[in-house]
Amino acid sequence: MTTPVYQNFINGHFLKNQSGETFAVKNPATDEVIYHVEVADAFVQNAAIESAKQGFATWSAMTPIERSRILLKAVELLRARNDELAKIEVLDTGKPWQEAECVDVQTGADVIEYFAGLAPAQVGQQQMVGEDFYYTRKEPLGICAGIGAWNYPLQIACWKSGPALAAGNALIFKPSEETPLGAIKLAEIFIEAGVPAGVFNVVQGAAEVGQWLTQSDDIEKVSFTGEVGTGKKVVASAAGSLKDVTMELGGKSPLLVFDDADISQAVSAAMLGNFYTQGEICTNCTRIYVHKNVYQQFIDELKTRTEQNIIAGDPMNPEVNLGALISKNHHDLVMGYIDKGISEGATLLTGGKALKPDSAPNGYFVAPTVFTDCTDDMTIVKEEIFGPVMSVLVFDDEDDAIRRANDTHLGLAAGVFTKDIKRAHRVIHQLQAGICWINSYGNSPAEMPVGGYKQSGIGRENGIETLDHYTQTKSIYVGMTDIESPF
Ligand code: NAD
Repeated sequence: MTTPVYQNFINGHFLKNQSGETFAVKNPATDEVIYHVEVADAFVQNAAIESAKQGFATWSAMTPIERSRILLKAVELLRARNDELAKIEVLDTGKPWQEAECVDVQTGADVIEYFAGLAPAQVGQQQMVGEDFYYTRKEPLGICAGIGAWNYPLQIACWKSGPALAAGNALIFKPSEETPLGAIKLAEIFIEAGVPAGVFNVVQGAAEVGQWLTQSDDIEKVSFTGEVGTGKKVVASAAGSLKDVTMELGGKSPLLVFDDADISQAVSAAMLGNFYTQGEICTNCTRIYVHKNVYQQFIDELKTRTEQNIIAGDPMNPEVNLGALISKNHHDLVMGYIDKGISEGATLLTGGKALKPDSAPNGYFVAPTVFTDCTDDMTIVKEEIFGPVMSVLVFDDEDDAIRRANDTHLGLAAGVFTKDIKRAHRVIHQLQAGICWINSYGNSPAEMPVGGYKQSGIGRENGIETLDHYTQTKSIYVGMTDIESPF
């Protein structure tokens, strides 16, 4: 059976590359190649820049209200095609349909809708300085680049294009080479909605194509989502042309469960924050610190619910709530961390093995895994695993728990479960993380800014402030009085 070959999406249409180079994309739940994609060679790269220049000229000349109307049409199309797009995400990522059907497309559409609404409200300032005055304009940056990870491919493309386009920029987006199709579908939707050709271009490929985006002198900003190590390379490379950067990177986030917490709720949060999207979520609370008085109760309920309520299998089956990891490589990496957890002396409470569900025997499944009796120095407690692997640790002193939670170079997210309102805020204010939850975990509405402290990131996505990250301020001084000159 022949599989489709997708080309790069440039200037409103598919563009064939000249090198003929392609790469294969597999469905992680079946290990089968589902389509091929052409790599963006030099010819495509040049075309992308030329197209974005033209797109920017047209788009930035439109009023924010006009841009907003068009983007809202795209939002409508995204929502109308929810199921078609969600299926693409399931086949590309291996995540369960029951998630993609209600989260991936919706949360992407929400963010474009939010920024479409916000853009016309963005205003400059005006201030008198004596009889003279100045005013400021919020101008778009020009051509921006977006580079995405594979866990929420379409959502990431929406989260980057929403504010970029609303502010009047053109975007060249490179999805992960593991999950390239969602961004192409978004590009088609933008065109159908009336976004001018060249405003949103999709280039395909792996690190080399990403590197080109970070180096190009024609690109003003790069917004990156991916690993900390890759993020450092992107920042170093972007420094060559002093590009603006937004970095959405990895985490090793703590959840603190106090002895007055609703334990069932805390277990729900821990399971969501470790097993949703089979653990491939950047904000996951992979270090769970539980107060010693409720430790046994917590792990008993956690073990029971993990063993009884997880259904792994064909991700398109709506009953399935645990999908396949993105690739064989990643699966092996996660299994390697599990082996390390065992060899370093953590107790395996449940899981710890690869799964071969009857409905998807060739998929890259890993059983939801919980380690207890963990210590702060263990590899599984220190490094981001990006799979369904949870480490549970004990604490008995609030200050000590905070110190241990903060003892990491990462700072993406954090959570607290307690019924004591003062303690909740006191603790969360001391946690070094950009995205925090009290008696909740994982929700990330369009209105809420998200991003990391420490090495988990630079800048923010979503929320009002993000629009500023896609504009630059021009100050204009207006002389109302004669110039006094000594010359
Ligand atoms: P990755 O860093 O391997 O790849 C991310 C993207 O960068 C891909 O498109 C890849 O092709 C590209 N790339 C690779 N090398 C590059 C280079 N030298 N220059 C430019 N681009 C390059 O990350 P991944 O494995 O795709 O995603 C998983 C990681 O992403 C995890 O660490 C996770 O925590 C993180 N993540 C963070 C967020 C967030 O919002 N903070 C969201 C999702 C994922």
